[in-house]
Amino acid sequence: MTVAIALFTQDLRLHDHPVLHAARNAADRVAPLFVRDPRVDAAGFAAPNRLAFLADCLADLDGSLRAIGSRLTVRRGDTAEETARLATELGAATVHVAAGVTAFAQRRENGLRTALGDRLQVHDGVLTVQPPGRVTPAGRDHYAVFTPYHRAWQQAHRRPVLPAPRALHTPEDVPGEPLPTAPARGVSPGLPPGGEHAARSRRQHWDVDGYADLHDDLAADATSHLSPYLHFGCLSPNELVALAERRGGPGAEAFVRQLAWRDFHHQVLAARPEAAHSDYRTRHDRWHHDEKEAEAWRQGRTGYPIVDAGLRQLAHQGWMHNRARLLTACFLAKSLHLDWRIGAAHFLALLVDGDVANNQLNWQWVAGTGTDTRPNRVLNPLLQADRYDPDGTYVRRWVPELAAVPGRAVHRPWQLPDRDRYPDYPDPIIPPDTLTQRLRSARGLD
Ligand code: FAD
Repeated sequence: MTVAIALFTQDLRLHDHPVLHAARNAADRVAPLFVRDPRVDAAGFAAPNRLAFLADCLADLDGSLRAIGSRLTVRRGDTAEETARLATELGAATVHVAAGVTAFAQRRENGLRTALGDRLQVHDGVLTVQPPGRVTPAGRDHYAVFTPYHRAWQQAHRRPVLPAPRALHTPEDVPGEPLPTAPARGVSPGLPPGGEHAARSRRQHWDVDGYADLHDDLAADATSHLSPYLHFGCLSPNELVALAERRGGPGAEAFVRQLAWRDFHHQVLAARPEAAHSDYRTRHDRWHHDEKEAEAWRQGRTGYPIVDAGLRQLAHQGWMHNRARLLTACFLAKSLHLDWRIGAAHFLALLVDGDVANNQLNWQWVAGTGTDTRPNRVLNPLLQADRYDPDGTYVRRWVPELAAVPGRAVHRPWQLPDRDRYPDYPDPIIPPDTLTQRLRSARGLD
């Protein structure tokens, strides 16, 4: 009897899973393994929202594996050591794992290679549609600009979507730990449920056709909300692209473009892992240090309702609408002149989809230190509010102190004739005319 180990990392699903598929083809028995590596916690990646979501994902994965005759083994410790130990216990001939992108994943892969040698098989195209390094410009290791990347990405060959296995035979009595549970504290009350079943149900019930028109409408909240499921690999992005292409139309096209953005950031980070912390393109910004301003921003008490609404949505749901991410981030970097790393750290502490590639590189894009070809671009939060929340519904949903203010007047509480009826809502952290001035100078006009 031959045995293979399928080591799960950020690919917590059965559908369209090259790792599982290869392990199944390689041996009579497959041991699905997940290792809780304390270094993930130590590296600050393990925020309560993501740990709670992960607990759901693992329970769901174990349930799906049990339904086909297998089960998930969970161990705790250094991933390479635990995997090598299990490989010895089971006499496994091969260990299969998805290729990662971050510096952490690359170190993990090196550790696995040292511990397992030729027995390790690393599979591409599990976490992204196109593996980093596959779509590259001549003579370079990655694309630095999205538009040409997107063009090449659209032309690139995609692997076929793989079916979920109907049966999986697993060695008896593989010792492991109980499945992890959600942390007792720090979890956002409106966190969505994790796992492949919840992911597939969300995908089926979401209307992609409305996406092209409504994706920027803050109150409509019409985006897919699939980001946490993509982050934990409960859904295969390759399968999502195949489904969207079959459906066709402007909504599906716009949605696929966003998945290309996801791949784009992953290929940048894979080539430049240091971009998780350092400016991708430094502009020698001299950031302003003001902990009081940073804390007001984190708490959603800047006095700019559209900014505060986004940050409070983040606290409540562990998720924020993309338009709100853009304008809250721009407010921090280009209106308050605070270092983008302060904002990125706050997002990573709360976002259930918090992802080193997408978060750090989107932050850098907004701050003008990343891949944006117009690094001086600014988003005026007041104009953004008028445009993307025209009657103020999004603000009233998330800022209860202002729930009684009608219409778009909610975006400028300092102009309300009855301003003293809302004493709990703070005054603007910087006066509106200073805001306008700072945005003009960030744009290079002054
Ligand atoms: P949809 O609009 O339905 O898009 C579908 C999928 O495409 C998303 O689930 C996501 O996987 C991908 N996607 C969409 N927009 C982007 C983008 N700009 N960059 C990369 N991928 C994208 N996304 C994360 O997954 N994790 C993060 O930590 C993260 N941090 C961000 C920080 C900032 C400052 C900004 C501006 C954006 C960030 N994003 C991040 C990108 C984007 O905001 C979210 O992916 C999106 O809001 C998730 O909602 P959705 O699933 O409904 O997206």
